[in-house]
Amino acid sequence: MRYAVLSDVHGNLDALGAVLDAVAPSDVLLCLGDIVGYGPDPNACIAMLRARGALTVLGNHDVAAVDGHGLEYFNDAARVALEWTRGVLEPEHAAWLDSLSYEIRQPAFLMVHGAPVRYFAYILDKEEAAAAFGATDAPLILVGHTHVAEYYECTVAGTIAHEHRQHGGRLVLEEGRRYIVNVGSVGQPRDLNPEASFVFYDPDRHTIEWQRVAYPIASVQEKIAAAHLPAVCARRLKLGR
Ligand code: ZN
Repeated sequence: MRYAVLSDVHGNLDALGAVLDAVAPSDVLLCLGDIVGYGPDPNACIAMLRARGALTVLGNHDVAAVDGHGLEYFNDAARVALEWTRGVLEPEHAAWLDSLSYEIRQPAFLMVHGAPVRYFAYILDKEEAAAAFGATDAPLILVGHTHVAEYYECTVAGTIAHEHRQHGGRLVLEEGRRYIVNVGSVGQPRDLNPEASFVFYDPDRHTIEWQRVAYPIASVQEKIAAAHLPAVCARRLKLGR
């Protein structure tokens, strides 16, 4: 079996559709949160992931969309987009988001949006990665949140290495070592590659493979403008930042 792991769809249905086209029906889908926020199609994205049976944890935008929690911590564009999202979110989808948990732990891996325990913390450097490794005993920590495809590797001796994967690529998970794998963002990449990001995780072969998928960015930008969402939400899609 194989997992397809995605994160930070952010209401971008065109990007999500392109990603799911690249995923096999037999793949088990894992979603690391932030299905909504920024983008014009929050309901359709939730419906698509629910229909696909995606095992999902909560992101900070999801929480804010459901009950307004933490809205004051978002920047202006994010907050305006979240208020719009709260206005259009169908009650049934809001209730589904509200039913999700902050983490899912399996023997082989931990799913969180940002970091273990401090769920919405950003892992941006080796020190924050070291803190994250120290907060769980999971051998593999699957995260999103920063919208940057990359990983941190922790050796038995505790040395931490870091590599970007914003153009795709492979990682072989070595016995005894631990990993933080950032799957990047489906709907709003910020690693200077505008293509949608996700990973395949094969637990039998011990591999992670980052994927990038092109999608019709201009059509999403038109939908963002039509919904009167902040222009920056459209502009950054093309830039990948
Ligand atoms: Zn996000």
